[in-house]
Amino acid sequence: MPDSEIISIGELIVEIMRKQVDSPFDRPDDFIGPFPSGAPAIFADQAARLGHRVAFIGAVGEDDFGKCLLDRFAQDGVDSQYVARISGLATGVAFVTYFSDGSRQYIFHIGNSAAGRLPRPQAEMFTGAKWLHICGSTLSASEAMRQACYQACQMAAQAGARISFDPNLRPELLGGEEPLRRVCQPVLEMASLVLPSSTEAELLSGVEGTEAACQALLNGGVEIVALKRGEAGCTIFTESGTISVPGYQVYAIDPTGAGDCFDAGFIGGLIEELDLEEIGRLANACGALGTTRKGPMEGAAPRAAAFELAELKDKL
Ligand code: ATP
Ligand code: MG
Repeated sequence: MPDSEIISIGELIVEIMRKQVDSPFDRPDDFIGPFPSGAPAIFADQAARLGHRVAFIGAVGEDDFGKCLLDRFAQDGVDSQYVARISGLATGVAFVTYFSDGSRQYIFHIGNSAAGRLPRPQAEMFTGAKWLHICGSTLSASEAMRQACYQACQMAAQAGARISFDPNLRPELLGGEEPLRRVCQPVLEMASLVLPSSTEAELLSGVEGTEAACQALLNGGVEIVALKRGEAGCTIFTESGTISVPGYQVYAIDPTGAGDCFDAGFIGGLIEELDLEEIGRLANACGALGTTRKGPMEGAAPRAAAFELAELKDKL
């Protein structure tokens, strides 16, 4: 198998969602799923659909939820040779319910499931890799998963790969802002690219105000900060300036996973050496299309659809 350009590491989970909004978890009601999920998995799948060679480091149980995830990776071309199948542990699960005010609530089974048993990163996994992508959700999940991510960063750097970090943190799992920054520090120090939302930029930098927070991340040594702004698109901060790239109007059905699809578009654009404005367009297109299907990974865009929406058909 040829070397992978992109390595993604972290939780492989299926998502089971309430059918109706405003249906809390403390009473019986209908669910639908399983949908393949996990932030790093959505990222990997979108990157593969864009045509990049992606390998995943993670674990599933020997059950049909695990098969659901592996089948999706096989279908979309994510290399799962580093995905362990663990007997005696169930595949990770997230239950999600949405409320009409736009908020969502989760019940996670990650750290105590197969998802939490990340294979120990090995140097050969990173041979030829250009990017390693780390998600804050993985750092939030358990100490063992954090350590695996830190090791992966070291090995990726040794192999000459760059590190991208989506701080999709779960402060409620980490017990406040201070532990959260401590947990992120080893990754942040090594990251070339950080892809936060406004709140995440402030949390991560400890600085108030979105602009100032993103500038603080740059001052800390990050080369590019790609700020996600929902339907408004994104703003890209670098040492040589700031550009805002408007989002695309779509009929959004399920916002979960948009950020991970955006990340894949952004890193795909960097690998293809597009200019920053084009990269912003491609990332926005992936994020926007990601919202148009129910299920976190279902909206991951095929290459042609993403390039068409981003007005990059000449680069297909
Ligand atoms: P996630 O729920 O995956 O964590 P996020 O909060 O990290 O998402 P968002 O800003 O919601 O990130 O979305 C990421 C990107 O996806 C945006 O920057 C934008 O490009 C695109 N996007 C998200 N929602 C919409 C929308 N409703 N319409 C158009 N584009 C969208
Ligand atoms: Mg996010």
